[in-house]
Amino acid sequence: MVIVIKAKTPQEEIEKIKRKMEKLGCEVHETIGENRHILGLVGDTSKIDPDLIQANRNVERLIYVQEPYKKVNRSFHPKDSIITVNNKSIGGNKLAVIAGPCSIESEEQIVTIAEQVKRSGATFLRGGAFKPRTSPYSFQGLKEDGLELLKLAREKTGLPIVTELMSPNYVEKFVEDVDVIQIGARNMQNFDLLKEVGKTNKPILIKRGMSATIEELLMAAEYVMSEGNENVILCERGIRTFEKYTRNTLDLSAIPVIKKMSHLPVIVDPSHAAGLWWLVEPLAKAAVAVGADGLMIEVHNDPANAMCDGQQSITPERFDSLMNSLKEIAKIENRDL
Ligand code: PEP
Ligand code: MN
Repeated sequence: MVIVIKAKTPQEEIEKIKRKMEKLGCEVHETIGENRHILGLVGDTSKIDPDLIQANRNVERLIYVQEPYKKVNRSFHPKDSIITVNNKSIGGNKLAVIAGPCSIESEEQIVTIAEQVKRSGATFLRGGAFKPRTSPYSFQGLKEDGLELLKLAREKTGLPIVTELMSPNYVEKFVEDVDVIQIGARNMQNFDLLKEVGKTNKPILIKRGMSATIEELLMAAEYVMSEGNENVILCERGIRTFEKYTRNTLDLSAIPVIKKMSHLPVIVDPSHAAGLWWLVEPLAKAAVAVGADGLMIEVHNDPANAMCDGQQSITPERFDSLMNSLKEIAKIENRDL
């Protein structure tokens, strides 16, 4: 349930309503907008008498939230959320571009790629240190050593770093070391992990599970937000369908749908969606055209010899030309790149 308070209501009157709701057992999520003040109620609202609330002269109206996601819901927060990361942001007018290799392989590899993608206009550096691989015999990532190399690349370029966390055991280390914690598709419904990162105040990038519905993705974000962390970014990275040509099927319609349902920023990862490097460019363009708030793109300086996902990685040169063509599409969409 959402209580919309009339503009110019004195704060002490709003506090009275809040206290009343809390006494009835609800958690109150307050959003102060330019023209509207919103109180989103989470929890058991059965003891609330809607007629009594509407009788309050400071209440404009009541909105019933049918969806199971509350804090994620746009009705709780009508304006787009902008997540700030160091001196950068995700959401809002400027598109965020997270680029880098699938996995961190060596100092030379990550630093070279970081410098190249930065020159082309990337705003964040990605690189996996702990890799969720289908086979236990595949390269699992450089782990802690990888994190150190990623930090070094941040130091050299100033780019904030994004990397995947797989285990609740490493939450503290990631909070200390990285700028955005990525929850991968395979862990989107690892509820213990979601709750743990929800207790931090780090920006959390949640990738859509390969068989997850949009609502399930939003519920994953609700898990993080319900623990108090409101810095959540969503990522569409393709879903499993019967089509085998591509690694996954990029669900482009998910972007405008999520933007309608939620205030959280949504980015698109065309690399894991397509699984093929030559599809990254057209899908990235399409993502910007449908309103994505940013992109996550795998870039490797030697795709043929990459330890992971070389077939879907583009070279720094191709990334540079992609950024140039994206600028044109961003302009049509009134976005900055
Ligand atoms: C990744 O970004 O490296 C990754 C493993 O992606 P996903 O979780 O979307 O498969
Ligand atoms: Mn990858």
